[in-house]
Amino acid sequence: MSVLDSRLAPVLDDLRERSLYRVRRSVDGAHGVQMRVDGRDCINFCSNDYLGLASDPRLAAAAMRALDRSGTGSSGSALISGYNTEHRALEEELAAFLGRPRVLLFSSGWAANVGVLKALLGRGDMVIADELNHASLIDGARASGADYQRVAHADVDGYRAALQRAALDGRFAMLVADGVFSMDGDVADLPALRQLTHQTGAALMIDDAHGLGVLGATGRGSAEHFGIEPDVLMATMGKSLGCAGGLVAGSETLIEYLVQRARTWVFSTAPPPAIAAAAREALRIIRSEPELRGRLLANIDRFVRGARDRGLPISERAVATPIQPVIVHEDARALRLSRELMERGYWVAAIRPPTVPRGTARLRITLSAAHDAAQIDGLLDALAQSLTVLDQVNP
Ligand SMILES: *Cc1c(COP(=O)(O)O)cnc(C)c1O
Repeated sequence: MSVLDSRLAPVLDDLRERSLYRVRRSVDGAHGVQMRVDGRDCINFCSNDYLGLASDPRLAAAAMRALDRSGTGSSGSALISGYNTEHRALEEELAAFLGRPRVLLFSSGWAANVGVLKALLGRGDMVIADELNHASLIDGARASGADYQRVAHADVDGYRAALQRAALDGRFAMLVADGVFSMDGDVADLPALRQLTHQTGAALMIDDAHGLGVLGATGRGSAEHFGIEPDVLMATMGKSLGCAGGLVAGSETLIEYLVQRARTWVFSTAPPPAIAAAAREALRIIRSEPELRGRLLANIDRFVRGARDRGLPISERAVATPIQPVIVHEDARALRLSRELMERGYWVAAIRPPTVPRGTARLRITLSAAHDAAQIDGLLDALAQSLTVLDQVNP
């Protein structure tokens, strides 16, 4: 074994022993509700394609038209040669939709969070972060060199104390939180966060990866839902928009600053124009077909009511979002439950540390506008049966 491999192999062995080893399942064909995964047919309840747009033929057609016109690669960073009219049009349409002056596209949500936090924060500054924030927010904030103040989940008093301390010290502070928490499905108390940051002279950054297209009267996300405006609004096009790529919305000054300073944007090839064309079509559909969101909300409601009727252990906090965790605590139990469901034809991935805190392993069920009532009821029945089987094997 090479020096490197002999260093890595024991770590892998340890992960296997602790039920923390991860494997990929390969999807054959389009990403939808009925899927073929590792050679077997199943109903998908674990993707972030909340509106069913990832396999919508209208998005594929828009991408193909752009491929015919513009080819595959953008062939350069946006500042050199990679900025296409499709990118510009998508930025303008997203800005109009979100009601913010400007939008900047990144190649992924991960790149957006890391690029923004490193550009906006530095030594001497403070970042105040919810403990359940997405990994990209944690990495970006830590890499910025700012002091990292981790606050217990949704602890408004904790945020207040940290913000007041920063204000007393005369330091620039930014409060950073998910709008919809990705593994728990609960929504941040944005009005409280906005008020606290205003009172203490801090900035507010919201990651709305799971709110965009889902929450708010017109799908503009958690900020619309609460009627507040963060200083930095980040989201991704890889979830409800069914495409790929990150976006940041904010003031003219913010976006121009990022154009000069966000290293994950400056030094990275611009996304393919065709993916921007597909995202434009997704945005057009979200704006013109509000019934899609209506169907998603009805499906969430059916799932939550059905789970309560069957006495299933769903979260009390995640009532109105498509992310519905079933927390089973032990890692091995989450894996077994996921396998039991797959035996019954339902695909729900087990989520274990480090994606979630130790002792909170779970199934993360996600709902889509594309599910029908029978599929949701079928999942609920399969979940009840699987939990019973698990309790018989290992009470
Ligand atoms: C998925 C996700 C990201 C990363 O976005 P990608 O486009 O997948 O890189 C960032 N933040 C949150 C909360 C997410 O769920």
